Amino acid sequence: MLETSGSGTSRRNFIIGAAGIGLAQVLGRIAPAWAAEPIKPDGTSALMVVDVQNCFLPGGSLAVKEGDQIIPVINKIAQGFTNVVLTQDWHTPHHISFASSHTGKQPFETVALPYGTQILWPDHCVQGTEGAALAKELNIPKAELIIRKGFHNDVDSYSAFLEADKKTQTGLAGYFKERGITTLFVAGLATDFCVAWSALDARRAGFTVYVVEDACRGIDANGSLAKAWADMAAAGVKRIQSTDIAV
Ligand SMILES: [Zn+2]
Repeated sequence: MLETSGSGTSRRNFIIGAAGIGLAQVLGRIAPAWAAEPIKPDGTSALMVVDVQNCFLPGGSLAVKEGDQIIPVINKIAQGFTNVVLTQDWHTPHHISFASSHTGKQPFETVALPYGTQILWPDHCVQGTEGAALAKELNIPKAELIIRKGFHNDVDSYSAFLEADKKTQTGLAGYFKERGITTLFVAGLATDFCVAWSALDARRAGFTVYVVEDACRGIDANGSLAKAWADMAAAGVKRIQSTDIAV
């Protein structure tokens, strides 16, 4: 199995993906000889699990390719964290980000809105629907907060911190700061939209930010994935793999 989207760029993943579990186990045993020390999250760190919801999984209305493959990875790394926060895209039934809300528009076209250019999406993550529910396979009972975003009808919010008008705060930065949390590890869907925008806003809010590449998958519309990684690198977001985290 070779990863093709949002993952698999590291040499280690390539080898494991190509050779299967037997070699993976061998590499796991010899890894300490050449790998950096794993990162051990402490009480000042939190794992943010972004939008692992049915609509974004294969079979969903806005499915991210291989989106389901990140769930076991996230379940595993969550064991290494004291603090875990989940986010949930949570739209009104006729949300402004839906193509169906704009006469004559199709999904993935754009529209000019007062806060800027909005990509139009298939209807997704409508409040209270099964599509908006968190993936059943997500198994993180310790998660201490679920923060919902995109619930204002006329403003989208890829970011878990700041809505697309770039003014309206979700309150999440304040939550972390009041809890003494300074370092965030971000995983989820999709790498090039809600993960990237959340990571970038987290940097702007002063947090140390890691994005766990193999615990994310991207949509990659018109080069958006490469641009997202470039923007995150420029902002000082650190790109790591799940195996870099001590569990
Ligand atoms: Zn949305």
